[in-house]
Amino acid sequence: MTPPADPADGPARGARRRRRRHAGAVTDSALPSGIDPSVPPSGTGCVECEATSSWWFHLRRCAQCGHVGCCDDSLGRHATGHTEQTGHPVIQSFEPGEDWFYDFRTQEGYDGPELAAPGSHPAEQSVPGPADRVPADWARQLGG
Ligand SMILES: [Zn+2]
Ligand SMILES: [Zn+2]
Repeated sequence: MTPPADPADGPARGARRRRRRHAGAVTDSALPSGIDPSVPPSGTGCVECEATSSWWFHLRRCAQCGHVGCCDDSLGRHATGHTEQTGHPVIQSFEPGEDWFYDFRTQEGYDGPELAAPGSHPAEQSVPGPADRVPADWARQLGG
């Protein structure tokens, strides 16, 4: 009385795998390598310039370890130096009002996640800085 089972409706159907794509949801594993949002910045000034009583123009923050270094327009170029020494590939601007990221591997800027506060040096901190060490002819020194 029972109709014969349809061979097309066999076990093969249930065994078929489904592929699921994680669209939209941002998880920790989705973060680009070289970025750790939980690490706070090392301070308010370039680590190396502070150590040598030098001065800087703009500041950049390592997105992986929080190291704050000076930009390539500064005399020390310590942000790039930090990347070359450690292999940490991503920096974020440490200037007030700027939140762009830059990846040394691709040499491209992009928008990244929010990093541990503070996201910049204090707004009242001078640019270039620090104020008491910036020479009177700083523009000429940077302009060459
Ligand atoms: Zn520096
Ligand atoms: Zn770093």
